[in-house]
Amino acid sequence: MTLRIGVIGTGAIGRDHIRRITCNLSGAEIVAVTDVNADAAALAIESYGLTDAKIYPDDLSLIAAPEVDAILVASWGPAHQQSVLAGIAAGKYVFCEKPLATTAAGCREIVEAEIKHGKKLVQVGFMRRYDSGYIQLKQAVESGFIGEPLMIRCAHRNPSSADLYTTDMAVTDTFIHEIDVLHWLVNDDYVSARVAFPKKTRNALPHLRDPQVITLETRGGILITTEIFVNCKYGYDIQCEIIGEEGIVRLPEVAGITYRKDAKLGMNLLMDWKDRFIDSYDRELQDFIDCINQNRDLQGPTSWDGYVAAVTADACVRAQESGQEEAIELDEKPEFYGGVALRSV
Ligand code: NAP
Repeated sequence: MTLRIGVIGTGAIGRDHIRRITCNLSGAEIVAVTDVNADAAALAIESYGLTDAKIYPDDLSLIAAPEVDAILVASWGPAHQQSVLAGIAAGKYVFCEKPLATTAAGCREIVEAEIKHGKKLVQVGFMRRYDSGYIQLKQAVESGFIGEPLMIRCAHRNPSSADLYTTDMAVTDTFIHEIDVLHWLVNDDYVSARVAFPKKTRNALPHLRDPQVITLETRGGILITTEIFVNCKYGYDIQCEIIGEEGIVRLPEVAGITYRKDAKLGMNLLMDWKDRFIDSYDRELQDFIDCINQNRDLQGPTSWDGYVAAVTADACVRAQESGQEEAIELDEKPEFYGGVALRSV
């Protein structure tokens, strides 16, 4: 079976997903696109020779189109909620780039709509769960290889940030990926957040507080510290180390040759996040396509995970502003999303 996908939003990531579905992945084709900028939509399908794909004037008409089996939402964040809700109402599968919705209440509305529909239709684009390094970390935790996890230390460093990047975006655009992957890694829920601001780098614009250190605590007592440093200059660098009772595991360095030259031993680092996670983007979408084509439940991040990310991000932004510990108060996880047992204290 070939899954017929309609893409809503043909900006940077929308076009990149059209490229990977058309050129790299199997089992799906792009049959429809829409964007507030019709020229951008036309260019996106032209670039990949998709002469049969139709351009729709808006998300709702694309979702209603009979030739569309599934939608891929890659418009700007505030538009996601409407598209996802309409997708669920039409009984169509939805792959939604983060954020699922820009508010926790919006995510909760999607969760309720999906439960009411009675079948999981939505996968959120938190691609790190498909990164081979994070998968190995999860296997190490689940197999008991390092014993009970006690602490996690992470770093999320970008060489530089855009002029419009603000202090809260360090949470909502950057740390959001750690928020999703870390609770999945240890199968636990967050209960509180704190944010500390060390000495500010001279390489950040005056309005931006950079770096910052975010501390999350889980229900089971695991303490997670993450350094967010978006003007670190030297490269794009993602680190994660889990300290357990019996040992420690950490993410591998990026694959690359080591070199010995001019009296130095070295290896190149990446500069762009797209290169670091390029395989994960392929895998997350291939998994979405395969699950639907093989009539299996979706395996990726759910609407509930989108809700968890929104609630946690809100608490982190509050902690940035208050300088205090802020509670992360999640509703009880519905049975519909697995209701798995969490790590005990
Ligand atoms: P972008 O380049 O600005 O693309 C967004 C596109 O959607 C633009 O073409 C925009 O048009 C269009 N758009 C806005 N509202 C729309 C609507 N109501 N219906 C249809 N199209 C609409 O942004 P991007 O970098 O591709 O990001 C898109 C989304 O993906 C964001 O939510 C972002 O957070 C997420 N993202 C996720 C990752 C990841 O690692 N998972 C990476 C990058 C982006 P205009 O330009 O005319 O407004």
